[in-house]
Amino acid sequence: MIGHKEFDVVVIGGGHAGCEAAAAAARVGARTALVTQRKDTIGEMSCNPSIGGIGKGHLVREVDALGGLMGLAIDRGGIHFRMLNRRKGQAVWGPRAQADRDLYKAAIFELVGEIPNLEIIEDSALDVELEGSVVRGVRLGRETLTCSAAVITTGTFLRGRCYVGHESYEAGRHVRNSEIVEPPSNALAKLLEETLGLPLARLKTGTPPRLDGRTIDWDRCVVQPSEEPFAFSSYGPPASNPLIRCHRTATNPRTHEIVVANAHTLAAPSTTGVGPRYCPSLYKKVERFDRPSHGVWLEPEGLGTHVVYPNGLSGAFPLEVQRQIVASIRGLERAEILQAGYDVEYDFVDPRSLDHCLGVRAAPGLYLAGQICGTTGYEEAAALGVIAGANAGLSALGRDRFVLSRRDGYAGVLVDDLVSRGTREPYRMFTSRAEYRLSLRADNADLRLTPRAFEVGLVGDDRAEACARRQRCVDDGLRRLDRLRFRAADWYRHVPFAPDDDRTGKKAARGVVKSAAEMLAMPNADLASVERAANTLSDDDQGGVVAAEARDTVAAVCKYRAYLDRFDKEFDVYRRNEQLFLPPDLDYDPKALPALSAEELEKLRAHRPKTFADASNIAGITPASLVYLYNHVVTRT
Ligand code: FAD
Repeated sequence: MIGHKEFDVVVIGGGHAGCEAAAAAARVGARTALVTQRKDTIGEMSCNPSIGGIGKGHLVREVDALGGLMGLAIDRGGIHFRMLNRRKGQAVWGPRAQADRDLYKAAIFELVGEIPNLEIIEDSALDVELEGSVVRGVRLGRETLTCSAAVITTGTFLRGRCYVGHESYEAGRHVRNSEIVEPPSNALAKLLEETLGLPLARLKTGTPPRLDGRTIDWDRCVVQPSEEPFAFSSYGPPASNPLIRCHRTATNPRTHEIVVANAHTLAAPSTTGVGPRYCPSLYKKVERFDRPSHGVWLEPEGLGTHVVYPNGLSGAFPLEVQRQIVASIRGLERAEILQAGYDVEYDFVDPRSLDHCLGVRAAPGLYLAGQICGTTGYEEAAALGVIAGANAGLSALGRDRFVLSRRDGYAGVLVDDLVSRGTREPYRMFTSRAEYRLSLRADNADLRLTPRAFEVGLVGDDRAEACARRQRCVDDGLRRLDRLRFRAADWYRHVPFAPDDDRTGKKAARGVVKSAAEMLAMPNADLASVERAANTLSDDDQGGVVAAEARDTVAAVCKYRAYLDRFDKEFDVYRRNEQLFLPPDLDYDPKALPALSAEELEKLRAHRPKTFADASNIAGITPASLVYLYNHVVTRT
């Protein structure tokens, strides 16, 4: 019983992974404790004040579909919205919102507090008590909690060490807007490494200085207005907060001179772990890319604060050098630094020690989630938190495990990439990591995952019913679009779309008939114009053919049907030939293989895999790239 400090599941850490893990464990029915060092940092965004983005937005939608908190919280805390990648296909659109940090944190705290079965305990976890290798409890600073499953989600705290210039000190991170640092988690690192014999390695991440918005010359920067707010959760309205404006400025050759001249003031790379490839420090960008300038986005941290996050300026130079860098940038000449940027280096556990439930293979009942598994980012942490928390709860209750496959969602891709291939650098989600990305869209996350979540108790009847209702609207919309059929020549008079060779008078003259769904698949045709045309061409008024809540999904299904079939076929052919040898003299050059990223080419050159199966085991080589490489090799031979 909770009063006697007996739980089914104890979750250690109140960050993005920990809150989702605790909520998921409690929702499947386990009596759960969330132990965290400071209650006032529950739901804290340690770095950028934003949620979502390319690939990450999909994860937020999936977390929501699985009954998680992140989507609902950003819908309460969002103050600036952008749909990234809008010019590309809908499958890779990346919903992103900037948050008021305090509103977001308050929302997470409130949502966690509303969950029955879940108690928050403010303390430090010092050890996980094992009987043999099986979890029996968690020892805190002040008491011991008994449990049969524990989830460790200590983020950057495992033997954390912060750096500013050559100065370094033990800490998991800085407390926002204060001089206080949060202590690292050394005892847990010892447990994982020495008692359980897990392989640990070092990673690093950094955060930029925070600026005083009152000292920024906004007129010298480019305005970045918000789009209309959109909802991240399928089960609530979008944010209704006032919207803010962000601004953009950029570094310049003078900034880069300062960076290069002060490279020696940074801690030597040999003493620090590997940093995030896709969120590099300013020093790394200057070193790696021969460019005169890099973008800097000025993102206010909230509605009632002057603190501004200069996205793009992370770097742990000594404070005086950070001041010079900031002052060299247009609009920031007189900007004051409120808190210095810093790096944090920490241990992570090689995720290949985990199974697909995120359970530690060597210790039944012990689960890991979040940055401790080698990822970077709030969204990745949250998705791992849901999977680990649900499985911890299910195992404590003696129920079947909950595993998502790569076909089910990005959460499945994330877990599979980590536990099968491991990672040597902070892992960030991208849409290109998913082989089934045309079907794993943000718009259909609920339809893909909520029924699965309902089966294990992660969501209740209300969400399951709402999801089933939306599925019926989608099915109905698709049926109606398939049935509305007219002569192609008639459609062409009313639906604007990009010309292609199907739009020949010859075909139309032969009386080709097309359905509204086929018309919608034409380049640039959109649902509204197809519906308008159908109404004009029909004898009876068709009204709105597709219901409001099904429009995004119906449009995407029509657009992608043909591609989906083709990709599935290509992928099947590739899979059947995975044991095929790669030519030993294959030139991994960007000119020969322009569709592969610089990261992929670098890794292929370094590993020179013998077969396609070997190539698929290299972390960072995406499934779509493997299919591309396969087609390249087959057509070359
Ligand atoms: P966290 O959010 O770090 O939460 C860990 C929680 O565990 C904290 O609440 C802590 O108090 C608690 N805890 C630790 N030890 C114990 C213990 N023994 N007992 C009880 N509680 C404990 N991400 C990016 O995507 N891009 C970036 O550029 C980026 N830069 C970053 C820079 C810095 C300086 C930091 C600190 C983080 C940065 N991040 C960045 C990472 C981002 O913050 C994390 O990916 C995300 O917060 C991970 O979530 P998590 O739940 O795993 O860990």
